[in-house]
Formats: sequence, structure tokens, C-alpha cells
Amino acid sequence: MSYKQTRRDVAVADEYLASHMACRVCHVHVQCDELSAFGAQCKACYDAYCADAPTRNPAPRTHAQRKALLNGMALQSTGGITTDQAGTVARRLRALEAAGMRLTDGQLWVLSRCEAKAGMSAE
Ligand SMILES: [Zn+2]
Repeated sequence: MSYKQTRRDVAVADEYLASHMACRVCHVHVQCDELSAFGAQCKACYDAYCADAPTRNPAPRTHAQRKALLNGMALQSTGGITTDQAGTVARRLRALEAAGMRLTDGQLWVLSRCEAKAGMSAE
């Protein structure tokens, strides 16, 4: 490689590096204008970031949020079974509990909703 060719290659590389930088997320070299527009990340990483943003109805994350959601659903779902059915389910779950079975959180929730529906608890 001649000196002239080397100088040309260096000039091309310098020109490229002057206008391109690495994305802070994926480290791919993109034009500085793109990095400026999307918060130091490439368009692909920015789109992925936006797709991960919270929606209007984000999934419940805390225990209190999940409980509020379940209680809201319970108001709808317990309307679908009769008071007798709710009482039967509650008695079965209480019998399992009395037989020594440890009820799961879901079973305890069903138990509380069915007892409330059947008027077996003060809720
Ligand atoms: Zn990127």
C-alpha cells in the first residue's frame, strides 16, 4: 500500500468517524444526527424502548394493584354463580383446610369471595 493510498484511507476513516458514533445501547455506529434525535441511541433501539413503554392499562405490578384488580373481577365473576354454588365451594375449601391442606393464595381468594357471596362471612 502506497503512502498516497494510506492517506486516502485515513481521510475516509476520519470523515466517517467525525459523523458517526456508537449507539449507547447496542454500540452500533450510526450517524450523529440519528443519535441526537433519539437520545444517544439508534432508531432501532429507540423503537424498542418506545414499545416497552407503559400502556394505558399497565399490568398490575404491586400486591395492592393485583388485589384491587382481582376484587374488581370478583364483583363481575361472582355474579355468574348462585349463592348455593358459592356456599358449596366455600364449604369444600373449608373442608380441605380442616383436613390439613394448606390453601394457596388463589384458593383463599376464591374462598373469601364465595363466603362473601353466600353471606358466610362479614365482608
Ligand atoms: Zn442501538
